[in-house]
Amino acid sequence: MNAPGATGIQFPAAVEHDTALDELLLRTVTDGQHATSTCRMGSPTSATTVVDPRCRVLHVVDASIFPTCPRANPNLVTIAAAELMVDRLMR
Ligand SMILES: Cc1cc2nc3c(=O)[nH]c(=O)nc-3n(C[C@H](O)[C@H](O)[C@H](O)COP(=O)(O)OP(=O)(O)OC[C@H]3O[C@@H](n4cnc5c(N)ncnc54)[C@H](O)[C@@H]3O)c2cc1C
Repeated sequence: MNAPGATGIQFPAAVEHDTALDELLLRTVTDGQHATSTCRMGSPTSATTVVDPRCRVLHVVDASIFPTCPRANPNLVTIAAAELMVDRLMR
């Protein structure tokens, strides 16, 4: 029970002292991120919907939509396309 764990810290000692426990947690605790819901399904009339209930994509506004590779800086062209589409969609 008193054998050091993989961190080299003796766990009972760490649990008994707040400072040691804080240090142990900061050194060993990690999170596991599993992103979901980044392209949400919903009503086609909702501003936060990306795909409709049949999984049809409603809007794509990024550099992938350009018919050809732009000669200008793509970042600026992407922003211009996004601004234009916001104006069109908000009308
Ligand atoms: C190293 C580097 C340097 C560059 N330098 C320049 C430069 O100097 N000038 C210039 O004009 N252009 C530059 N570019 C190009 C420019 O960055 C791109 O053309 C532009 O960012 C394209 O915009 P985008 O919106 O299409 O894609 P991105 O900017 O790649 O945006 C895509 C977004 O979608 C998000 N995403 C991905 N999958 C999902 C998902 N499933 N759900 C939700 N979100 C998701 C990503 O997190 C990201 O935020 C550079 C590119 C690179 C890689």
